[in-house]
Amino acid sequence: MPIRFHNTLTRRIEEFVPATPGEVRMYHCGPTVYSTPHIGNYRTFLLGDLLRRFLEWQGYKVEQVMNLTDVGHLLEDAEEGEDKLEAAARKARKTAWEIAEHYAQEFFAGLEFLHFLPAHHYPRATTHVPEMIAMIEALEQRGYAYKVASGNVYFDISRFPAYGRLSGNTAEELEAGARIEINPEKRDPRDFALWKIDAKHQMQWDSPWGRGFPGWHIECSAMSRKYLGESFDLHTGGEDNVFPHHECEIAQSEAASGKPFVRYWLHARHLLVDSTKMSKRLGNVHTAQSLQSLGHSGDALRLALQKAHYREPLNFTLASLDEAERKVARYRDTGVRLRDAAATAAATEAAASTRQAVDGLRARFAEALADDLNVSVALAVLDEAVGEANRRAPHGGDAAALFGLLRELWGVFGLLQKSLESTPLADADILALIAERDAARKARDWKRSDELRDLLKQRGIELLDGKDGARWRRSGR
Ligand code: AMP
Ligand code: ZN
Repeated sequence: MPIRFHNTLTRRIEEFVPATPGEVRMYHCGPTVYSTPHIGNYRTFLLGDLLRRFLEWQGYKVEQVMNLTDVGHLLEDAEEGEDKLEAAARKARKTAWEIAEHYAQEFFAGLEFLHFLPAHHYPRATTHVPEMIAMIEALEQRGYAYKVASGNVYFDISRFPAYGRLSGNTAEELEAGARIEINPEKRDPRDFALWKIDAKHQMQWDSPWGRGFPGWHIECSAMSRKYLGESFDLHTGGEDNVFPHHECEIAQSEAASGKPFVRYWLHARHLLVDSTKMSKRLGNVHTAQSLQSLGHSGDALRLALQKAHYREPLNFTLASLDEAERKVARYRDTGVRLRDAAATAAATEAAASTRQAVDGLRARFAEALADDLNVSVALAVLDEAVGEANRRAPHGGDAAALFGLLRELWGVFGLLQKSLESTPLADADILALIAERDAARKARDWKRSDELRDLLKQRGIELLDGKDGARWRRSGR
């Protein structure tokens, strides 16, 4: 089945053809670890997780890298100004290194809460400075970089005519924008820093241009090259990364290697909260941690953040999260029921037609996601599958096939991956299974009766047979 994505580079929906058949190499711009990531950041990161899960489900071998920016990202994504890490350190009266470590841990805790598949590499900028220096040296040798009196090293935009292709910004627009910050050191106001000298900066490394620190853009060029090579398939980020960050990454990587950098660029629209931008002043900055402490589940937050198409705006509200909680609860009820029915149900005639329905639902779900990750259609098919499962399983439909289907589809959205196995049976379900077993015993169907006893035992329910039927208790309590 052909897969199609919207490529920011061409502004078109294109068939996705990775460089090596069956293998996908992709890079995601990760967090700048100067504060706890908010749920908007996770919306963008979830685009990467959805791509990973969907492509793996489709049989691709995926190599996934997400970086951590822990130096060099200046306030307002600007060319001049304080490093975000250093500003946070100053306010907290900590070192920039302590800030980086603390917020890296918060980021990983958020990933865990949201059940992300772990990427294959999470490179940190501060541990890849030699790779960045090597890349800047290559740019210098090829005539794309120049050093000025202060010791700063800049990328020479005039040498790279394709600059502006990703963002669609013309040279005139870029120059007009860049004029706000006049820096007489630069040959062209659009030139951007590769290496910076600033004696006040806490995080410093020796380099051929003096002790200093790397620019934010060179970090992603150097780290993606190290783990994925000079050319790779997919690169993602939030919409604000298109310019200048990704535009600059393309310029550096292609200038250094002489090869095309990334085949497909995917960008996620920003998340709004209560229809406005998240801001500390408005008190609407939600984090994974803040929602967890309100009692919310990672599954519901995932669903709430994944329910809109990645190129559409998504407005998050606590009410939408409550709605997602209810949906996840319904999914879980269905899942637990099917899990147990699948373990016992005998095959009937209804099973064949169920298997046909299962194949149809699976195919429609896959087609929806292959259509530039059309999650609205995919989630509607998922709900239809849940409805079918609830309708068919009690009437001899193939519960195992239905359960298998739901696990697959939930798996692509990363839902109910951990909780289902450990969810205990509801009392009503226990009583229903015991009644079924009592009936089997009366009918002297010992095989069925034993099956049901074993199933209950697996779920931690012990039966105590008595004259008036079985009593039960949860073992270990
Ligand atoms: P940062 O930690 O600022 O470097 O951002 C990490 C990622 O989150 C980047 O890819 C940003 O584009 C993305 N991002 C920032 N704000 C939002 C938002 N409100 N909604 C979605 N993504 C965002
Ligand atoms: Zn990046």
